[in-house]
Amino acid sequence: MDIQWYPGHMTKAKRQMQEDMKLIDLIIELTDARIPASSRNPDISELGKGKSRILILNKADLADDDLNKEWAEYYKAEGCTVLLMNSRSSINRREIQRCVEEACREKLERDRRRGIQNRPVRAMVLGIPNVGKSTFINSFAGRAGAKTGNKPGVTKGKQWIRLNRELELLDTPGILWPKFDDPQVGRNIAIIGSVRDEILNVDDIALDLIRLLNQRYPDALSERYHAREEDPAEMLRAVAAARGAVAKGGEPDLNKAAQLLLDDFRSGKLGRITLESPPEV
Ligand code: GDP
Repeated sequence: MDIQWYPGHMTKAKRQMQEDMKLIDLIIELTDARIPASSRNPDISELGKGKSRILILNKADLADDDLNKEWAEYYKAEGCTVLLMNSRSSINRREIQRCVEEACREKLERDRRRGIQNRPVRAMVLGIPNVGKSTFINSFAGRAGAKTGNKPGVTKGKQWIRLNRELELLDTPGILWPKFDDPQVGRNIAIIGSVRDEILNVDDIALDLIRLLNQRYPDALSERYHAREEDPAEMLRAVAAARGAVAKGGEPDLNKAAQLLLDDFRSGKLGRITLESPPEV
């Protein structure tokens, strides 16, 4: 992930997206199941007006199973077609196809009424950095995904992957910019690793994670680091001790401990964790 979200980047991403939108019928929006609200960008509703949509809660294997179900229900109740996904394992193409049909039902019926037949649905994968867009495309396309090459009338350089007779996928995902308006949203995005750690204060992100875990999963830290501390700074020292993060002179290396903690969380070593719950309805 080498994108820093300066206004210039945002404008460029938005322009690219608006161009791509003209080519597609269906948006496959990927979010991170550990933060299913914070990892969305609300601007997509405006940008994708008139398009069919599927919402994928990706990395569901790293997220809390009960909350996976709650979030899926929550978004379904909002009228979304929702799928829980682990893009790193073999994915269920038939299930995705069923969702495509559900999401595109109106469009397919409209085509039929107009006598348009056999025109495949064109789809594009969208999401903020690091939610697994490329992994999903690779898993979904697999060996079945033969590149169709440039098509006449289509913007030069665009490659479509033909998945079956009914569905074509743009081979490069659209990158949505994270929305940092709410400070907690920004912190959540930083915790899952959607912003380069180098431009952030890793110690602060780790302290935030400890605070959230103490509230939501009090056992997750004690099980891995054999310590329980209410005070986040104390807990970080305990992580340093448990993981042998020691600086010159024998002091705990808190910066190293912070990075180790984030790595443990991101790779699932603290267990299956979801950092936010759906709003009460
Ligand atoms: P992109 O920036 O959205 O294209 O994200 P990538 O496809 O590069 O994935 C970012 C990281 O998340 C990589 O290390 C992937 O292996 C990992 N990843 C992607 N999807 C999943 C998933 O469903 N589960 C798990 N555990 N890891 C995933």
